This record gives sequence, structure tokens and C-alpha cells, in this order.
Amino acid sequence: MEKRVKKIITELERAVPEARVELNYSNAFELLIATILSARCTDGRVNEVTGELFKRYGKPEHFLKKKQPALEDAIHSTGFFRNKAKSIMACCRKLEDEFGGEVPRTLPELTGLPGVGRKTANIILGHAFNEQAIPVDTHVKRVAFRLGLTESKKPDVVEEDLRRLVPREKWTDTATRLVLHGRYTCKAKKPLCGECVLAELCPRVGV
Ligand code: SF4
Repeated sequence: MEKRVKKIITELERAVPEARVELNYSNAFELLIATILSARCTDGRVNEVTGELFKRYGKPEHFLKKKQPALEDAIHSTGFFRNKAKSIMACCRKLEDEFGGEVPRTLPELTGLPGVGRKTANIILGHAFNEQAIPVDTHVKRVAFRLGLTESKKPDVVEEDLRRLVPREKWTDTATRLVLHGRYTCKAKKPLCGECVLAELCPRVGV
């Protein structure tokens, strides 16, 4: 298994040299807001919205000065806009009241923010704070399962399995590459096994 995981990581590094999230952001707060908005929405659509949004709302205090309906209008096209606006407002309130308007840097503090689950917290840690973290989204879950890196479809268990198998210094980049591999090659409905660099290493090639 160890050898196979090593090869999978090497092939992914070759196929996806740049392991970066596809959401646009310039600091931890923007990544936090963009990630909340990305629930059940494409990164491309979120980027369209945040391009304008972040010009007007750069800090928690800017959101708190506005009324929720104004935010709902601004993020409408990302879907589930009422819930997202509610979460963002509550999240900004807590950031302002308990963290001096800054995004905290620990998993328990991050997951204590409204609208922030373990996946989002790990994205912030891994990408905004350069910690090693494994955010498990639908792509990571599916690709890890197909590759036989986990036997579970529960995100927490998948995360635990990947933490055990992948060298710590490669956690964030490997998770990001699994996302991109899942998004563009190992797709949910029709995986492109014929053009997959992992085909020879995959127990479910041709699923
Ligand atoms: S061979 Fe097919 S199922 Fe396996 S990782 Fe590649 S695309 Fe996914």
C-alpha cells in the first residue's frame, strides 16, 4: 500500500503541478467567505460574485455595517443565498466580537464559527495559513474511495485514512490535487479512466 500511495502522489504531482484552490482570494478572511459561498456552487460562479463583493466588503466590520438583505442580493447567484448570508453575518459577528476581526488559526476555533465545518476549516488552515491539512470534499471522498485509499464514505474517516497514508508534508497539496483530479478526470458520473494517469494504480479503473 505504501508503495502504491507514493506512486499515486508522484503521478498526481506530475499531472497537476500547481496545487491551488480555484477560488480567488487574497487573505484568510476572503478565503473564508469564498468557501462559505462555494457550498453547492461552482468555484467559477463564486469568483464572479466575490470579484465585486470583496471590493465593498473586505473585513468583517464591512459586512456588519450592512443589512442582511443587501448581502443576500450581492450573493444571490451562488444559491442558498439566505442561509449563506445568515452564516456570513453571524460568522463576521463572532470574528469581530471574539477575534478582533481576524480569522483564527486553529481547527477548534475555526469550526466554532457559524457556517464553518471541518472541511472549510481545513481549507483555511491549509491554504491561508500554510498548515498541513486535508479538507475532504465530495471529490476527495470519491477519488480516495475509488483509489482504495479508504473504505469509508464518511468525510471524517476519509480524512483520518488519508492522514495516515500520506506523508504529513504533502497533506494539503495532495488533497488539493485529489480535488482537481476528481473535478476534471475522475468525475462522479463518467470518470475519464481512459486518460487517467492513475489508471494502472487504480483498483476501480473503468467503474
Ligand atoms: S482510473 Fe478511473 S476511477 Fe480510477 S482514479 Fe482514474 S478516473 Fe478515477
